[in-house]
Amino acid sequence: MQSVFEMMVRKGEGSYAKKDAELDMLHRVVAYCLNEVDCRRQVVLEHFGEHFNAADCRGTCDNCSGGFAVEAKDLTRHAQSIVRLFMSVRSIFPLFSLLSLPSFLISSDSPLFLNR
Ligand SMILES: [Zn+2]
Repeated sequence: MQSVFEMMVRKGEGSYAKKDAELDMLHRVVAYCLNEVDCRRQVVLEHFGEHFNAADCRGTCDNCSGGFAVEAKDLTRHAQSIVRLFMSVRSIFPLFSLLSLPSFLISSDSPLFLNR
């Protein structure tokens, strides 16, 4: 499902590359807002090219003070499957964007579902 902001970017003026860059920035902002694990100070400072050790936050941001337990999992095989799927779709639709993959997969009119 596309957000209102995504539709605004897609319907706006500019080249495909410009819209893709704008959508990437939009998704980064959304990811930042939804992120409940990573240190906010670290994420913001890294965005501006600065290094910050999350341990130095000492619970001064909402995420560090929230006490979420983080479990590390190896999702390499899943990531590889997603990349292979993306490359297959892109071989059929050359202008297909990685950012479009999630909405493409859940859309009922997706070509993936036309043969069902
Ligand atoms: Zn923090």
